[in-house]
Amino acid sequence: MTPDDIEEATGFADLGLRPELLRALAGLGYEEPTPIQREAIPPLLEGRDLLGQAATGTGKTAAFALPILQRMAEIGAGGERPKALVLVPTRELAVQVSEAVHRYGRDLGARVLPIYGGQPIGRQLRELQRGIDVVVATPGRALDHIGRKTLLLDDLAMVVLDEADEMLDMGFADDIESILQETPEGRQTVLFSATMPPRINSIARQHLREPVRIEIGREPTVPGEGPLVRQSAYVVPRAHKPAALGRVLDVEAPEATIVFCRTREEVDTLTETMNGRGYRAEALHGGMGQEQRDRVMARLRSGTADLLVATDVAARGLDIEHLTHVVNYNVPSAPESYVHRIGRVGRAGREGVAITLAEPREHRMLKTIERVTKSRITVEKVPTVADLRARRLELTRSALEESILEDDLEHFRVVVDTLADEFDVMEIAMAAVKLAHEASGAAADEEEIPEAPLRTERDGRTRREGAGRDERRPPRTPTRGMTRIFIGAGRSAGIRPQDLVGAIANESSLSGRDIGAIEIADRFSLVEVPDPAAEDVIAALRQSTIKGRKPTVRRERFQAR
Ligand code: AMP
Repeated sequence: MTPDDIEEATGFADLGLRPELLRALAGLGYEEPTPIQREAIPPLLEGRDLLGQAATGTGKTAAFALPILQRMAEIGAGGERPKALVLVPTRELAVQVSEAVHRYGRDLGARVLPIYGGQPIGRQLRELQRGIDVVVATPGRALDHIGRKTLLLDDLAMVVLDEADEMLDMGFADDIESILQETPEGRQTVLFSATMPPRINSIARQHLREPVRIEIGREPTVPGEGPLVRQSAYVVPRAHKPAALGRVLDVEAPEATIVFCRTREEVDTLTETMNGRGYRAEALHGGMGQEQRDRVMARLRSGTADLLVATDVAARGLDIEHLTHVVNYNVPSAPESYVHRIGRVGRAGREGVAITLAEPREHRMLKTIERVTKSRITVEKVPTVADLRARRLELTRSALEESILEDDLEHFRVVVDTLADEFDVMEIAMAAVKLAHEASGAAADEEEIPEAPLRTERDGRTRREGAGRDERRPPRTPTRGMTRIFIGAGRSAGIRPQDLVGAIANESSLSGRDIGAIEIADRFSLVEVPDPAAEDVIAALRQSTIKGRKPTVRRERFQAR
């Protein structure tokens, strides 16, 4: 990390955070504070109580975790008893929040412990005895430890009630009350809740002192003359997001797309994943120099790339003429940000498309955005493998139609004639279609993407996310002695097998006969060439244009060894 990177997290420095925290944030690839962080952090650093209405996805965890850590550093970590207690409704959230505190506090050495029911109490006891600075707990288990006098709250400087409405829904009201009784009078208290029913207000009146009030999405954000944008959302478990993005793009077939991510790390990882899946993606974030950015933009304008993966900061001020699709890879942290992002398409009377990938627990933020922007975001089903197959068959059909209309097919008549002695013409045609279809790269991933239901108030407790499985196209063994070359242009760019054979035969020492299997998918092609010629062919193709384009050319990454 360079001093520039830290400099660029100035958004956070302006809030008054310590250098250790700024370093950690820059290291995580955060480029600027989210609205809730901008509003909540300064008063929290001053020691004020706070009542915040904010849902998951707004960045609320960092909004309270950073001030907690700063306070720890001021008090001086160490000692046995915790200085901060965060109460959360579920064990998943306890783990997530304590991981976040741990990440942000890596340079401050703060000791964090999640405590929740279902985990053996012995281990928690040992950790508590060893000394802990921040405890993140579900109310039931916290009370358990308080009763055993293994969790002593006398030294607490801060208490946070996170997702307070959910804690009440789950029947923790009395437990919270009892826990707060055990905490020192002079503590700082923070309450975050996605909704503000009267019961939350009454807890706030009783336990918070002149709190600062913050609400994300209070003001209607009316974008004036709204752009013409079709807005939809897909609810997908995190582990399946790259596959879902690919599937949606395959079906949408956009001209040019910008995909917004939260952090630099996410931008880099997603760009690599999408390239591995055969898309031509370019990364753009605040950690890149001007020259690098210019190069990326040039590739996008010239059509050498069709997917720009970017952070908000990096994309600010960009004007991309032919942009048709905006994708929010996560639900944006505030309605303003959503409006700003989708304003990039649907210009000059053309229809644009805005797509949001939401995780099941982000549904509230999606609702807030709908309400505040007064627009409708339709939740759609991720296209299934069957949808994708149907679309591929449709593509094969159009390719055949095109060939019938445009190609000189006389050459092949002899094959049909001889087969017709033995078989029905329909059967011959079907076999030919099958071969054409298979040759067109049905190799792309065919994994079913599980449907994730939107979390509603009732099923709110089942926070399940997909297993973190890395899904990739299954490697299919290339022919022995052959190297498979990936070319980042496919059927949607009008590429046909003869174009590839032509390009290779023209540009390298190989003749058409030396070239092995060819697969043409929607967005990319794969060509097999003899191993010894691979480097030459790659170098030659990189110098040349195919159908007026200069696509990515490289060794296929997923070759079986
Ligand atoms: P939360 O609403 O606290 O659950 O946070 C949602 C996600 O946003 C988490 O994955 C955080 O790591 C991420 N996040 C929080 N603040 C920022 C920020 N300022 N920039 C980028 N990502 C952030």
